[in-house]
Amino acid sequence: MTNRLSRSAASVDRWFARRRRNLMGEHHCLIVLGLHGIVPDATYLRSGAIDPSFVLAMDQIEAIINYFLEDGFIPVGVEQVLAGLDPMKYHFMLTFDDGYYNNLLMLPLLERLNVPAQFALIGHAVRTGHAFWWDVLNRTGPIDPDNPLESRDSLSLTPLPEIEAKVVQRFGEHSLRPAGDIDRPMKTDEIRRIANHPLITIANHSWGHRILQGMSERDIEADLTRTQEELQNITGFAPQTVVYPYGLQDPAVLSVSRRMGFKLGFAGNHAKIGLPLRLNSDLAMRLPRFSIFNTRSIVAQCESCHLEWKPSWFVRRMLHQGMVGPKVVYS
Ligand SMILES: [Zn+2]
Repeated sequence: MTNRLSRSAASVDRWFARRRRNLMGEHHCLIVLGLHGIVPDATYLRSGAIDPSFVLAMDQIEAIINYFLEDGFIPVGVEQVLAGLDPMKYHFMLTFDDGYYNNLLMLPLLERLNVPAQFALIGHAVRTGHAFWWDVLNRTGPIDPDNPLESRDSLSLTPLPEIEAKVVQRFGEHSLRPAGDIDRPMKTDEIRRIANHPLITIANHSWGHRILQGMSERDIEADLTRTQEELQNITGFAPQTVVYPYGLQDPAVLSVSRRMGFKLGFAGNHAKIGLPLRLNSDLAMRLPRFSIFNTRSIVAQCESCHLEWKPSWFVRRMLHQGMVGPKVVYS
């Protein structure tokens, strides 16, 4: 019965979704999606080669793009955002974090649909070619089996060489080797190739994917500068955008990023960006992004970052379950 009710609520929502702009209007906005690895199909999610938590299958990426295109959204990249978006239109932007080689599998799709994307690279992964520690731990199990969750959380605050030393000590040198193409970082020749691709922008995603929030300005600058230099050596130019690890930042992170000349910064708190977006504003330095997960309906998740009102949310509010529409933030 509950299932039947939620199915009917979903179909009412969908009906409403198609008509809401005429009925209620919608803020003109930019929606930024924060995505990560990509696998050719869902069977890879269960392969164990890659931590499936933040990974999407190719058809799910295509479903996201189609959802926004069919709803009249314009796909944009860094270049268009910096040039200024039309404040009377709707826009969406794809960002992919961590620099998995598997992101390149998507190029034919992006080219076919003419959709730009940003790839945010981690300096240490580019330099060493090591597997990402979260994928290693997904294969091996936690470093501290007595306290798996705590050890995983504390690793986000640990410098990468220390994490890798712990992993090697417990699981051996070979554990840092990627399982294959599916979980490996991009190589320098691949980065050089996409750096000149008209649809792709490369961003700085820190040196060691450590939470920058709470670090001293000197350490933040040293971390981001190292990756700027690494990427500049490979591509011939330094990124203009920064993606904060885990989306977390504070005034020190923002101030360093500005001083280093980054024009846009990407964070993680879910919200739509109201237009016009003022460059140099605080908001431009911590643009909110939405995550999309492989375990839930792609359309329902796209609706959750897009629709400001749905009939089922009204019912939930009546039942005191809170309002769940996305916020719209302005610069
Ligand atoms: Zn990341």
